[in-house]
Amino acid sequence: MTLILHAAMISDPGLVRTNNEDAAYAGDRLLAVADGIGGQPSGEVASDIAISTLAPLERSTGGQEPVAALRGAVEVANRRIREMAQSHPESEGMGTTVTALLLTGDEFAVVHAGDSRGYLLRDGALHQLTRDDTFVQELVDRGVLTPEEARYHPQRSLVTRAVQGAEVPPDTWTFPARAGDRLLLCSDGLSDYVEESLVRQALTGLADRYECAEQLVKLAHQAGAPDNVTVVIADLTPST
Ligand code: MG
Repeated sequence: MTLILHAAMISDPGLVRTNNEDAAYAGDRLLAVADGIGGQPSGEVASDIAISTLAPLERSTGGQEPVAALRGAVEVANRRIREMAQSHPESEGMGTTVTALLLTGDEFAVVHAGDSRGYLLRDGALHQLTRDDTFVQELVDRGVLTPEEARYHPQRSLVTRAVQGAEVPPDTWTFPARAGDRLLLCSDGLSDYVEESLVRQALTGLADRYECAEQLVKLAHQAGAPDNVTVVIADLTPST
């Protein structure tokens, strides 16, 4: 059985920021979210570099294993960001998170760095696929903070790994895909401000993925939307 993704995406500036430093991609095989770091306009440039470097994997991995292809694309994006920062000193420190899923056959390959997130809704249960590369997540792992405390911590946005020019390899892994899976990729503009129970409710309750994406952005707006909000929702079905 051949599986295919049907995806919807919305990238919204939110209610406070005037620019949108998030970027995203939603195809039949590739899903990606990137959240730029470094302020205007560098953050936007960095997230665009990440997405445009990953996008060709939708068509072909050039004979590479999917995980290697994702890692290679992130390496190229990292180099481009480093070169850009070197030639434009005002862009120093520019970078981006990246979370991307590539479907090949009946398997997803994942690449992840930063605090954008991937979720899997399967059989009604919502699983967080990614682990935030953040200062507060490290404190949670060490038992210093509870997840609830981390949620409201003033330094919750401090990212410990990003595509930012340095040689910091992203995490990569694979997991089996199943017809009926629903995937969500999002920037922290959603996950920092909207309770996971509400995210799950929207994902399970709204079969139409466009409506569902709109509902998630609406929930972020209801929470004040201080950051850019990007959501990619994809349903996995047998291709016909
Ligand atoms: Mg953000």
